[in-house]
Amino acid sequence: MAKKAFKAESKRLLDMMINSIYTHKEIFLRELISNASDAMDKLYFKSLTENIGLSRGDFEINLAVDKDARILTITDNGIGMTKEELDSNLGVIAKSGSLQFKNENESEENKNEDISVIGQFGVGFYSAFMVASQVTVETKAYGSDTAYKWYSEGVDGYTITETEMDSHGTKITLKIKDSTEEEDYDEFLTDYKIKGLVKKYSDYIRYPIKMMTGHSHLKEGTEDEYETHYELETLNSMVPIWKKNKSELTDEEYNKFYKEKFYDYEDPIAHIHTKTEGAATYSALMYIPSKVPFDYYSKDYEKGLQLYSNGVLIMDKCADLLPDHFSFVKGLVDSADLSLNISREMLQHDRQLKVMAKSIERSIKNELTKMLRNDREKYEKFWKSFGLQIKFGVYNGFGAGKELLQDLLMFYSSNEKKLVTLEEYVSRMKEDQKNIYFASGETVDKIDKLPQTELVKDKGYEILYLTDSVDEFALQMMVDYKDKQFKSVSAGDLDIETPEEKEEIKAKAEESKDMFEFIKETLGGKVKDVRLSKILKTHPVCLTSDGMLSIEMEKVLSQMPTEHSAKAEKVLEINPSHPIYNKMRELFDTDKDKLKLYSDILYNQALLVEGMPIDDPVDFSNKLCDLMS
Ligand code: ADP
Repeated sequence: MAKKAFKAESKRLLDMMINSIYTHKEIFLRELISNASDAMDKLYFKSLTENIGLSRGDFEINLAVDKDARILTITDNGIGMTKEELDSNLGVIAKSGSLQFKNENESEENKNEDISVIGQFGVGFYSAFMVASQVTVETKAYGSDTAYKWYSEGVDGYTITETEMDSHGTKITLKIKDSTEEEDYDEFLTDYKIKGLVKKYSDYIRYPIKMMTGHSHLKEGTEDEYETHYELETLNSMVPIWKKNKSELTDEEYNKFYKEKFYDYEDPIAHIHTKTEGAATYSALMYIPSKVPFDYYSKDYEKGLQLYSNGVLIMDKCADLLPDHFSFVKGLVDSADLSLNISREMLQHDRQLKVMAKSIERSIKNELTKMLRNDREKYEKFWKSFGLQIKFGVYNGFGAGKELLQDLLMFYSSNEKKLVTLEEYVSRMKEDQKNIYFASGETVDKIDKLPQTELVKDKGYEILYLTDSVDEFALQMMVDYKDKQFKSVSAGDLDIETPEEKEEIKAKAEESKDMFEFIKETLGGKVKDVRLSKILKTHPVCLTSDGMLSIEMEKVLSQMPTEHSAKAEKVLEINPSHPIYNKMRELFDTDKDKLKLYSDILYNQALLVEGMPIDDPVDFSNKLCDLMS
């Protein structure tokens, strides 16, 4: 019998398919099961509208494996296909029968009928050729007397002949390819693999997917003889938890699902279950893990939500659904109105998806805000795990994430001795306080001892202690919060003196101008300036910086493996209330060589206090000894 050729464009697509557009061959089973489910949806829909007396419970999908013959069959009792349908549906790839059916039936009155057709794609069936060398489709349309058999070995074309079938529906027979060195096809002939694939991709198909499975038992009355007992097992659980109502579900059920699905031992810190209608219609079930995954802050971590189209998994990690700042969220999204192009695997980054991503981002933000308000302890636990990510989020978008993320931020407070939010900080600001003050360092304890924090504390102002390298960069991106500027206590000009204090400092600074110039020259370009300090109380010296780059930021940058790391414009500040100041004034007039020694030692001391390495420790040590002897 003459073979019919596939249409030209189909042939090319089929060729691509066989050579795998789909990266995972195993998804063929998902595709065929989805088609079967669609076919049953169609007949069920017909029975609803035409009253032919079929109910949901009448439908099922059967899988069978014959290992020796290398045969896998997928049988459904759905609507089946006529000869014409067989020819046009499986002969032309681009045409999708499912899509046509959907359009024809989507009138106003039946819009709410429980009908959904997942396969709007048009190439799914051909994925069978990724694992099979021969594909046979036997089908009998509902209400027809004749059954037909479609047979193909791939690109050459296909034949259609008449055949016998007892009842309506479709049976797909795959002759599984022989395994090669690169590719293992044998696994598709094991119960174990097939069961696993159904669980993985088709667990929530709403019709039972059944298979005869064998279980071996010890034969009764014997001690070492086994017999295999076969039973028809339903492989899928059918009802997706996210399709249920929140009120039907307990925390335990939510948590159990999370742990099974996302392989975590611990309960999540929160779950977010939403059903959204409107610009995008979808249900989402998302979780915030309680611990940081071990690879979270590494390149290996892959963010993303599982994407389902009406209960059928189409993508395992859809990265576009999750912004980076919320990449710790695990979960899934199920939507009926995704526009998919060539295959389920190559989901377009389309408008629909973007709308969903935006709304998902909002849901996560709301959940976190709620947690912050209602369960502080829980939020702090969350913050410990993922706060860093949120701060990177503020920094990375050049401040684009500011509005969304600023109220989720927390920093350690000098006054409260615990984590506080920016909102809390601002609400407590003193009447005369203009800025939000922060200080950076390695640990809270070390920052607390920084000389630069003294005066600000003295004024009773709260200081935020920044201990993560990204912190200061993030605040710089934000510029301000509720119109209050962020100001580093090491910025030199803190803007906290009274007018009288300002006058006094100015006069003193004038007095010592020459001496400062001398010290600056002595230090030979190591500092940009030497100034009278307005911020020191008890310490003799400290380093501050002019410009955008702080000393703390210089430290962070110097740890990065780049050629030329940027340097902060350092300023050596000298405390006029410290006895050393008067001593230096005296030396400036009497012993300039000694003043040089002092300058060098004081500069190095300032570096040490700041946690910076000193250039020449041996020289420093020698100079100290010179001074002592
Ligand atoms: P899609 O399912 O994306 O439309 P396929 O290539 O998988 O594309 O299938 C093409 C068409 O063949 C389907 O739209 C459907 O009309 C028909 N079809 C496939 N499998 C079956 C089946 N098991 N029962 C009835 N019709 C089927």
